[in-house]
Amino acid sequence: MTNLLTFSADYSLQNLNTFGIAARASQFLRVEQLAQLQAIFADAQLKAMPRLILGGGSNLVLSDQVNALVLHMALKGRQILGEDEDYVYVQAAAGENWHEFVLWTLEQGLGGLENLSLIPGTVGAAPIQNIGAYGIEIQDVFASLSAFDFVTGEIVEIDKATCNFAYRDSIFKQDYKDRMVILSVRFALPKRWQARLGYADVAQYLSQHQIELPAAKDVSNAIIAIRQAKLPDPAKIGNAGSFFKNPIVPAAQRDNLLAAHPMLVSYPQDKGDYKLAAGWLIDQCGWKGRQSGRAGVYEKQALVLVNHGGATGAEVRALAQAVQADVYAKFAVKLEIEPVFF
Ligand SMILES: Cc1cc2nc3c(=O)[nH]c(=O)nc-3n(C[C@H](O)[C@H](O)[C@H](O)COP(=O)(O)OP(=O)(O)OC[C@H]3O[C@@H](n4cnc5c(N)ncnc54)[C@H](O)[C@@H]3O)c2cc1C
Repeated sequence: MTNLLTFSADYSLQNLNTFGIAARASQFLRVEQLAQLQAIFADAQLKAMPRLILGGGSNLVLSDQVNALVLHMALKGRQILGEDEDYVYVQAAAGENWHEFVLWTLEQGLGGLENLSLIPGTVGAAPIQNIGAYGIEIQDVFASLSAFDFVTGEIVEIDKATCNFAYRDSIFKQDYKDRMVILSVRFALPKRWQARLGYADVAQYLSQHQIELPAAKDVSNAIIAIRQAKLPDPAKIGNAGSFFKNPIVPAAQRDNLLAAHPMLVSYPQDKGDYKLAAGWLIDQCGWKGRQSGRAGVYEKQALVLVNHGGATGAEVRALAQAVQADVYAKFAVKLEIEPVFF
């Protein structure tokens, strides 16, 4: 084993996951260069071991003991690549902090990512679940990415169509799970930028601040303020953001639910389906603010599970299952978990 691969054994991951779970990695490596991934690939024993690719740890629920090679992505770098008639192309390495990257694009005078301000985590993880907020998803601005393929040992370029982006989903959670390590991501930012102000909170913030024609930076500021007011800060109370996906159901099912529960919160989707507000369903089951062991449902937003201090991954899972069971019993709707358990 070369000194490219100096693993730390029995390494604490408590400060590397936003849930603050006191997990320990059997083997931990900070990945600062591609050559480290290539060296793991070249070593049959290391290649065969289970791997956890770790970004900012903001969409993960860890077990106490993570028996795997934990590869913490720390590849750095961001740049403007060029432009054509319609877009400016920018690129960032996987280990760049997402929000700092968004702010950097805004400093370059480039709009397009502002609605995704303040989402925790890294650039490399952003395509995994097609991060989204305030009316946009990464697929709306995605150009392509580079990844290291742990089956072939090659670096591959993956275009948007191949990513199979969907609501909180992509090929990296499906066919390419455990196969691709994302190295860098490229974005196409529109030259004819237009603010996306579909959310009432954003419009309200701008009118309160008497901003009639918002620049991208104004929208970013609005979204930062709204998110800070609504979501728990992982530095203060451990969490992984929204814990459940908003379920998408056919119109007939939504109509039946609406007849039984006239206050049901739902949003029309493509193909006549409806997205149900999972937070509302959970709230109706009386879970908002409730605790189970050392884990609980956030008092201000029922979609968020929190660590009240010392919660284990198993406690979080038990709470999630109890919430799922109650929502199913009351509404016959299955809630799907968003974060990855490892
Ligand atoms: C307070 C809070 C608010 C949030 N708000 C939102 C939101 O509005 N919208 C939203 O979509 N998400 C949200 N999230 C979830 C989270 O921020 C995103 O999913 C984010 O993209 C995760 O990035 P990460 O670097 O922390 O990934 P991690 O949690 O480290 O990893 C997540 C998954 O991606 C894999 N992975 C990470 N990096 C790579 C890589 N380079 N190559 C291959 N696989 C990789 C991991 O193995 C794991 O399976 C929120 C989370 C928190 C804590």
